[in-house]
Amino acid sequence: MTSRNQQLFEKSQQFIPGGVNSPVRAFGSVGGTPVFFKRGAGATVWDEDGQAYIDYVGSWGPMILGHAHPEVIKAVQETAANGLSFGAPTALELEMAETLCMLLPGMDQVRLVSSGTEATMSAIRLARGYTGRSKIIKFEGCYHGHADSLLVKAGSGALTFGQPSSGGVPAETAAHTLVLAYNDSAALVETFGKIGNEIAAVIVEPVAGNMNLVAPKPEFLKALRELCTQHGSVLIFDEVMTGFRVGPKCAQGMFGIVPDLTTLGKVIGGGMPLGAFGGRREIMQKLAPLGPVYQAGTLSGNPVAVAAGLTTLRLVQAPGFYDKLAAATRKLIDGLTAAARKHGVIFSAQSVGGMFGVYFRATPPTSYAEVMECDKTAFNHFFHAMLEKGIYLAPSAFEAGFVSAAHTDLEIEKTLQAADEVFGGMSK
Ligand code: PLP
Repeated sequence: MTSRNQQLFEKSQQFIPGGVNSPVRAFGSVGGTPVFFKRGAGATVWDEDGQAYIDYVGSWGPMILGHAHPEVIKAVQETAANGLSFGAPTALELEMAETLCMLLPGMDQVRLVSSGTEATMSAIRLARGYTGRSKIIKFEGCYHGHADSLLVKAGSGALTFGQPSSGGVPAETAAHTLVLAYNDSAALVETFGKIGNEIAAVIVEPVAGNMNLVAPKPEFLKALRELCTQHGSVLIFDEVMTGFRVGPKCAQGMFGIVPDLTTLGKVIGGGMPLGAFGGRREIMQKLAPLGPVYQAGTLSGNPVAVAAGLTTLRLVQAPGFYDKLAAATRKLIDGLTAAARKHGVIFSAQSVGGMFGVYFRATPPTSYAEVMECDKTAFNHFFHAMLEKGIYLAPSAFEAGFVSAAHTDLEIEKTLQAADEVFGGMSK
């Protein structure tokens, strides 16, 4: 019998390229048919066939309070009843801007946009406009959305400029982006030594979450800060994923480093389309209408999205919220690691706040090259076996996972029970 999920996926492929509106949803990495979700509540999501799953994707990060949190839904409904969009200033967007500037010490001013991609794309343009330079540095394995200048992979040598990692990106655009290895401070020092005065910006995920989870070496983030200051380059922390996910003051608060610009998305929209970029006043004032750097958006600062985000930000600032979230996430990864060890499966895991990485490798990776050493076949087996037991993990060996405040001991224990059975099957 064909499931409704399968029927929907077949039909979707007729009308939507690949059947999905964002590529990783297609299960291309793990194989099989993507799950079509119909409903979510707390830590649980239900598919179109009525099957329930404990969700560790959380819409790729935003759902830090769990699905359909009553206060968030109420804020959305009440705000929507007053009109969906005005294309004019609102008091709500001011409240959001003020909230973000109060929470992040380096954020003097902020502009709201509708996605993480818009935030990073705009931050790069602003950094270029501010410095009058064209070149930027990014790191291998970090993802910053799909703007042309950021869809770039490393060139052939460590100091050669990048090549497009997507069709449709002009080589001339990619040529302005230099791609270095994450956590490699020596390569940074060398690059800045040679062309520091040509670098407009360095953009980095302060905890990398798009090549599975790779934690930063503290000296790496410190070197970034020092080199950017020394050479007049703009340091951009892309906290679209880590922002209010790893702690109450984002990754920058956790590591005690103040970037020049920060990009945000995911959690600040609470599941609605919202992004932001902000930082030093002197830089932000280069933006139109004050300055020469153009940036705009019909739906920017959308009141309904802002209402969802503000409610989410208010709830995550509750005392002890992040301690509890981090403890639940640690319980999950410690339990998974213990279960794998019990069955002799080569596996490791780590977490930062409410995000985690699982690796079919003896120790957590510290670079993209090490991430690539993980056993992808083992992950794909683990993914499907867990899915069958009602546990929804990110459908790729190269994505971080997310725990929400709605994941109680009960959900974590159910997950660990499932993992014990799956690892048991893998050891034979
Ligand atoms: N930056 C980071 C670190 C991300 O993880 C993502 C999305 O996953 C983006 C930017 C792009 O955000 P969006 O998908 O909202 O455009």
